[in-house]
Amino acid sequence: MKFDYKPYRQTVPDDELLSDLKRVFFLCNTDTLTMMQYSTEGKYDCSTILRRFGTWNSALQKLGIHLTQQFWTEEDLFKNLETVWSKKGSQPRRRDMDNKNISNISSGAYLRKFGRWSNALKAFVEFINSEDSLEQESTSNSNMEREESNIHSTKRDINLRLRFKVLQRDNFKCCICGRSPATTPGLKLQVDHIKPWSNGGESVIDNLQTLCSDCNLGKSNLAFNLNVN
Ligand SMILES: [Zn+2]
Repeated sequence: MKFDYKPYRQTVPDDELLSDLKRVFFLCNTDTLTMMQYSTEGKYDCSTILRRFGTWNSALQKLGIHLTQQFWTEEDLFKNLETVWSKKGSQPRRRDMDNKNISNISSGAYLRKFGRWSNALKAFVEFINSEDSLEQESTSNSNMEREESNIHSTKRDINLRLRFKVLQRDNFKCCICGRSPATTPGLKLQVDHIKPWSNGGESVIDNLQTLCSDCNLGKSNLAFNLNVN
């Protein structure tokens, strides 16, 4: 006599999950399918689909459905624009945003937010040129904090505006080796304190420089060796 293994609960095959997703997708007649939409019409629990495929988007991807539209904040959009700008080394064109090698957010998201590509660029430049009035106020308001951060009148973190100004001043190139992501794909640029913040250096444009991650690492190794010897 042979024993047959009978699982207590039959696991739904991937194909079955996907075909039910597809059914609801066509039923809803939209360009993408949200978890909310699926949970009202679908046969299975969204959590089952997430467990099986990792993320909602990867389940949709398997069906070739457009990914759930993501709602990016203005900060996300500006950060990504800054990244693309420095990787390209010059003002990006709309189509650069759709190049997945250098951009995480497609041009469509910018158009939804700003209407036209030129408006997105104008808003970004305006943002970069605006003063950090709020941040300056908050540092001068709190004397306690100022004492705590010792001699510093600026924060250690280099904000997006300042970062971009430094990158732009240095032509999106490493100040030591001269390489840029535009000519060396994959190269990472970092903005570095010339006089280290830990030695009293401030986060101001004159004390900042653009370095690639290799040179920046070399710089800190050198400093480390000098300290040790
Ligand atoms: Zn370098």
